[in-house]
Amino acid sequence: MSSLSVLKFINKVIEITSMRKDSCRNCGVTMEEFQRCTVCSEVNQFVCTICRKASDEQVHPKCSLIARNVVCN
Ligand SMILES: [Zn+2]
Ligand SMILES: [Zn+2]
Repeated sequence: MSSLSVLKFINKVIEITSMRKDSCRNCGVTMEEFQRCTVCSEVNQFVCTICRKASDEQVHPKCSLIARNVVCN
């Protein structure tokens, strides 16, 4: 393996791992917005445009704390 192909391989790994956040694990396509955080309004869950499988919900520790306080009050 030449150093160039090693570099290409590393770049590919980085591409795959960084893609995980907004790409479907089954189809590899870009996922669309599914749900937004009720506190900060940032998208915290995505859904696949092909198989309609939703990704894991990203919980914001700060926001869940705020949401809990709102419910308690
Ligand atoms: Zn949030
Ligand atoms: Zn999919």
